[in-house]
Amino acid sequence: MNHSPIKILVIGAGYVGLVVANCFAALKNQVFCFDKDGAKIKKLQVGQLPFYEPDLEALLQNNSLEKRLVFVKELDATFDQVEVIFIAVGTPMRSHSAKTDLSYLEAAIKAIATSMKSHKIIVIKSTVPPGTTRLIQSMIRKINPNLTFDIVCNPEFLREGSAVYDFMHPDRVVFGIEHQSVKTIMDRLYAAYIEQNIPLLYTNFESAELIKYTANCFLATRIGLINEMANLCEKVGANIDEVIQGIGLDKRIGTAYLKPGPGFGGSCFPKDMLALTHLANTLNMPLRIIGSVINANEHRKKQMIGKIIAACDGTVERKKITILGTSFKANTDDMRDSPSLSIIHGLHAGGATIVIYDPTLKSVKHLAIASDILWGQSVELAIQDADAIVITTEWEAFAHLNFETMKENVVIVDLRNLYDPEKMGKKGLRYVSIGRPNKAFKKTCKSEQNSSVPCTAISTH
Ligand code: NAD
Repeated sequence: MNHSPIKILVIGAGYVGLVVANCFAALKNQVFCFDKDGAKIKKLQVGQLPFYEPDLEALLQNNSLEKRLVFVKELDATFDQVEVIFIAVGTPMRSHSAKTDLSYLEAAIKAIATSMKSHKIIVIKSTVPPGTTRLIQSMIRKINPNLTFDIVCNPEFLREGSAVYDFMHPDRVVFGIEHQSVKTIMDRLYAAYIEQNIPLLYTNFESAELIKYTANCFLATRIGLINEMANLCEKVGANIDEVIQGIGLDKRIGTAYLKPGPGFGGSCFPKDMLALTHLANTLNMPLRIIGSVINANEHRKKQMIGKIIAACDGTVERKKITILGTSFKANTDDMRDSPSLSIIHGLHAGGATIVIYDPTLKSVKHLAIASDILWGQSVELAIQDADAIVITTEWEAFAHLNFETMKENVVIVDLRNLYDPEKMGKKGLRYVSIGRPNKAFKKTCKSEQNSSVPCTAISTH
C-alpha cells in the first residue's frame, strides 16, 4: 500500500530520535531532524553518526542521498513545512532525586508552542511518567492559547543494538490519544505496519505512558529473578542453563530476558524503574516488587565484585585485571548505568591495576574513572599479561578469545556465560561463570582450599 509522504520534524537526535528520523525517512516520508547540540547536527550533516548503532549508518547515508532526511540547526524554518512533530529528547533522572527531569521536554515544548502558527500533531516519543502528556497539553495551551494542536503519547520500545530492526518490526505500536480524529494521520504514518499486521493500540494518555514503564519493569524483573536463581544454582549444585531451558519451554514463560549476568543497566531500566517508584510513592502507592528488584540489582554489582575477588584468590591488590566490555550490553556503545563501570570502580578500589577494552571504546579520557585505568587498543593487547580477565559485556568477539596467548594460570571470570565450563576445564583453564557447576575452577582455586565455601558462591554479603 502506498501512502502519501508525511512531512515530519524530529526533535532530539539521540539513540531514539535518530532511529525514528531515519526509519520514517526510509518509509518515504520527508523528515527534518533538529538537536540543540549543534556539533551533533554538524556531524550528521556530513553523514557521521554520533554513536554506534548497527544498520543506522547505511540508512543515514541512503536517506541523505535521497534527500528525504535533512538535519537542521534552526527550528523556526521547519515548523511551517511539517504536519507532525516527534519529540525524542532525554528524560533522565534528576541529579538528587529519582524524579524524572522533564526540563529537556519542557524546553522543546516551549520552542514549539511559541513558534508554531498552524495546526500540528505533537507526538511524545520520550518515555514520560503518567500524567506528563496531559501536563504538556495544558502547558502548550497556556503558552499559546490560540494554537490548535493534537498531542499523542507514542512510547518507543526499541532496544539499542537492534534499534533499526526493532523500530521497523515492533510487536505493537502504542498511541495515547484524546480525540479519535488523530488516528487517521497516525494510521497513515504507520501504514507499513498495518500492512505487516502489527497491532496499533490506541489508549488514553495515561495508559500509553504506563504501558512503557510496566514493560520495562516487567523485563527488568525477569533479569533480576534469573540472577537470583543463578546464585541459588551455585549453592545447590543446579545449572542455570538447564533451569532456563526447563522454564522457557513453558509457553507462559518463554526465554526472553532470562539470561543471568552482572545486573541490568543502560539508560532505560534503572531510571524508568526509579521514576515509577518515585511517582508511586508520591501517590502513596508504593511499588514493593519493583523496589526489591532495584535493590537486588544494586546488590548484584557488589556480588559480582566479590565473585571476581574470590576468583582471584581473595584479593585483587596489585593484580592486573582486564575488563572486557564497558557498554551495558553488546552491540551498543551506551555506557549509561553500565554494571561494568561499578565493577571497574570496585576492583580499582581493591588495589587492582585495571585495563579495559570494548570494541566501541576509542579512549578512556571522557569516562569518569580513575586516571590510572588503562585502555586496551585491541582485545589481544588488553588480555596480554592479565592475571584475571573479566567478561562483563556479551560482545561476540569475547566468545572467541585466544587462550594460547594468555598468561599461565590466568583466571577467566565470565559474567555473561559465553563459554562452556566443561570445555574450559578440559583446556586446563581457571574459569568461573554464573550459576553453573564449576569443575573448571575447583582444581586451582586457592581460596577454596582454605574455605568450605566454593569460589563461585563467595559474594560480598
Ligand atoms: P539521548 O540522550 O541519546 O538523546 C537525546 C537527545 O535530545 C540529545 O541529542 C540531546 O542533545 C537532545 N535534546 C535535549 N533537549 C533538547 C531540546 N530542547 N531540543 C532539541 N534537542 C534536545 O536519549 P535517548 O536514549 O535517545 O532517549 C530519548 C528518550 O527515549 C528518553 O525518554 C528515553 O527514556 C526514551 N527511550 C530510550 C530508549 C533507548 O534505548 N535509548 C528506548 C526507548 C525509549
